[in-house]
Amino acid sequence: MSFFRLRPVAGCCWPAIPEGSLSQVWTAYLALERTQWLAPTEIECGQLEQVRALLEHCVRHVPYYHALLAAHSITPAAIQSMSDFRRIPLLSRQTWQSHFEKFCAGELPAGTVALDEDSTSGTSGIPVRVLKTNICYLWWLAHYLRDLEWSGLDPTGTMAVVRATLKTGAELEQFLQGTRLPNWNPILAPLIDMGPLFAMDMAQDPHRQIEWLRGVDPHYFLSHASNLELLASILLDEPRRFPRLRAVQAISETLTEEAQTRIAQAFGAPVKNLYSCAEAGYLASPCPKGHGLHVHAENVIFEVLDDSDQPCQPGATGRVVLTTLHNFRTPFIRYEIGDQVTLGQGRCPCGRGLPLLTRVFGKRRPTFIVAGRRRKHSSDLVHSLSLIGGHHQHQAVQQSLDRVVVRIVPNRSWTADHADRLHRAVQEFFEAPIQVTLEIKDRLELPPSGKLQSMICEVSDGGQAAAG
Ligand SMILES: [Zn+2]
Repeated sequence: MSFFRLRPVAGCCWPAIPEGSLSQVWTAYLALERTQWLAPTEIECGQLEQVRALLEHCVRHVPYYHALLAAHSITPAAIQSMSDFRRIPLLSRQTWQSHFEKFCAGELPAGTVALDEDSTSGTSGIPVRVLKTNICYLWWLAHYLRDLEWSGLDPTGTMAVVRATLKTGAELEQFLQGTRLPNWNPILAPLIDMGPLFAMDMAQDPHRQIEWLRGVDPHYFLSHASNLELLASILLDEPRRFPRLRAVQAISETLTEEAQTRIAQAFGAPVKNLYSCAEAGYLASPCPKGHGLHVHAENVIFEVLDDSDQPCQPGATGRVVLTTLHNFRTPFIRYEIGDQVTLGQGRCPCGRGLPLLTRVFGKRRPTFIVAGRRRKHSSDLVHSLSLIGGHHQHQAVQQSLDRVVVRIVPNRSWTADHADRLHRAVQEFFEAPIQVTLEIKDRLELPPSGKLQSMICEVSDGGQAAAG
C-alpha cells in the first residue's frame, strides 16, 4: 500500500497507473523505494556506476573537469572504489564562482533538456549559480515525494507555508496578506491527491503570522528554521493552540536540538527537519523511525571529511563534501558546501542502507576577531546570549576591531538587567574593552533569501571564508 493516493489514468483504477507525463516521476520514486533498502556496499556500487557515467560526460563536455582529471591522470573507468574517487581534488565555492563558465557542459546527453537556473542565497556574499535540466527536476520531484513519506506529511491534508517568496509588487502584497493555492505542488497535482496550500511571505510581522496560522488551522506548517524559532519564542510567551496541527517542517537554516525542542513544545507538534541546498536539492530527510536523518544517496555522494580531508568515522563530526549525481549541465564534483554534520553509528536500526546523520550543523558560523587579533568562533557568543534570555532573537555584528552592534528583539520579560548582562557577556567574549552598541528592534531585518545570520563579522580579516 503506497503512502500516496495515485490519481489513475481514466479507466485504470486498479492497479492504478499514473498519467503519462508524470509516469517517469512515479517510476523514479518507486526506484527510490527499492534502493533505500540496499546494503550500504550495494548503494556505494550504484553511486560509483553513476559517477563514472557523469565523469565520462565531464571529460568530454565540461572544460573544468576535462582539465582537472587530465592534470591528475584520472580516467573515469579507473574509479572503482571510494578511495579512487577521492583522488579527485576538492572543489571550493570560490573556484566555482570564479570559473563558472568552465563548469557548464557544452553538450547534454540525449533526452536531457536545459531548463532554468537557480542560485544560492549568497548569505556569504556572491551567489553560486546552478543550471538545471529536466533530469534534475525529475529527481527533485521523486525526492520530494520520498521526503513527504518519510516525514509522514500526508499531502491530502492542509499545508501552511511561511517563507521568503522572492515576490515583488502586487504579488508580494498578496503573499504578505496570505494566499490560498489549490494544492501543495502544481506539477504533482495530476499525479497524487493533494490538499490546499496556504502561503505567506516571511516578511510579515510574526504576530500577524500567528493569527493567520490560527485562521488557516493547518495540518502541517512549513517555514525557515529561524522564523519557526521566532514564532516559537512568541508562542511560549503567549500560548496559542493549533488543534489540527500534526507536524512542523523546518527548512533552510540550521536547526539546533534546543530550537527543535522549543518549536515542538510551542506548536504542540513534532518538528521534521529537511536538509537541502540549492546546489544539489535534497540532501537528507528524517528517518521514518526517528533515528536521525537519512542521506539521499541516490541524489548525491555525501562525504563527511575530517580536518585532514579523510572520511570521518561513525559518530564523528566533519565537513560535508557533495557530488551531484544527476546534474549533467553544471555538475558539482567533490564540492565543499561549508556545512558540518555528525555521522550516525553504523547502519540505521530501521533497516535502510542509506547513510545516517544524527546532527546537521549547517554552515559554519563565522569567527570574530578578539583581543590580540585572534580569531574566535562565534558559537560561544550565541550560547551566552541565549543563556541571558529575555529576548526572541539576537544578531551580533562585529563592525571593526573595537566595535560590535548587538540587535535584540526583546520578549516581555526583557529588563535593564538583561541589557547589563548582555554588555558583560559581549565584553567577556571579546576579552578586551570593546564598544558595544545595543539596538532594540521589533524584528530583525531579513535578507531577500530569508536566511537570517545571527553572527556577522564585517572586519575584512574576519574569517568569513569558512562561513556559508
Ligand atoms: Zn532509519
